[in-house]
Amino acid sequence: MRVIFFSSKAYDKNFFKETNTAFQHDLKFLDVPLSVPTAVLAEGYDAVCIFVNDAANAEVLKVLAAHGVKLIALRCAGFNNVDLKAAKELGLKVVRVPAYSPYSVAEHTIALILTLNRKTHRAYNRVKEGNFALNGLMGFDLHGKTVGLIGLGKIGLVTAKILKGFGCRVLGYDVVKGEEVEQIGIEFTDLDTLLSQADIISLHCPLTPQTFHIINDQSIAKMKEGVMLINTSRGALIDTKAVIAGLKSCRIKYLGLDVYEEEADLFFEDLSEKVIQDDVFMRLLSFNNVLITGHQAFLTSNALQSIAAVTLQNIQDFEEGKELVNEVVG
Ligand code: NAD
Repeated sequence: MRVIFFSSKAYDKNFFKETNTAFQHDLKFLDVPLSVPTAVLAEGYDAVCIFVNDAANAEVLKVLAAHGVKLIALRCAGFNNVDLKAAKELGLKVVRVPAYSPYSVAEHTIALILTLNRKTHRAYNRVKEGNFALNGLMGFDLHGKTVGLIGLGKIGLVTAKILKGFGCRVLGYDVVKGEEVEQIGIEFTDLDTLLSQADIISLHCPLTPQTFHIINDQSIAKMKEGVMLINTSRGALIDTKAVIAGLKSCRIKYLGLDVYEEEADLFFEDLSEKVIQDDVFMRLLSFNNVLITGHQAFLTSNALQSIAAVTLQNIQDFEEGKELVNEVVG
């Protein structure tokens, strides 16, 4: 099948080209994001392969459908950037990669927790400059701390297992309670209990109308003084202005983000020579207890290999008229 990629990077090309030797699809890689002006570039392609910040809204989907596209293949798990209702109305199928490596994101979550706690990022810079003073580097034992996980799907459960290994008490909140919750030793609670008891809160639910700004002024007010908040899921789960107020009042003592509400204008690009115009983001960066990575939690070789294999298989299944096991239906 003829497949055009938007927002593709060198690592996407490498893994997809290598995996495609077994599929022989005709792949075209573009680095521009999918948007109304770029959607016309899909003329003559059967499938469009997109990533987390490509805007597959109704207007864009209309252009894609008018140019003959039949399939939207997400090379990620989340699908909040696709208007599923519009896709259905236009007869476009949507597929995704529901699971590639939950370990990649769970392990990055732990990296953020440990870095914020033990301040290894600050220690690295100090030691490079010959500064071996320890003031300001004190952390706490993770052992015995209470960690609250919002969302107990694939990534939330792996994160819970790792945290149990550290000797943490793990609280979990989800709209459904899976079988593994008790086996892992997670205490299944309501959201308010989790917010009020957790020393560390980590978000692992998808972005939906129900979870949009699940972290807001009211939920922050319920958190413990000095809480650590981690978001490796989707930026808009957090009301950033509320979190900034929480940091200023010191209720939030540590913030670790891999995702940001307005990341589409920033992440995945080298802007080091540009003036960043987003004042809210720049305020976040100004706190020394905030650690931000640019949506890299998924970025392991294992995950990229799996993403390429599942995406190309999804496309193959569509081409052969097989059942689409990874279809997303609105
Ligand atoms: P999953 O579908 O396996 O699990 C999501 C869980 O969230 C489910 O158990 C679901 O019931 C729960 N949930 C849904 N609505 C909820 C609500 N209102 N309140 C509480 N829980 C709710 O997904 P996953 O593979 O664990 O991924 C979780 C999220 O991580 C994805 O949606 C995606 O946004 C994000 N993600 C980020 C990266 C990254 O690189 N930073 C990579 C992959 C996934």
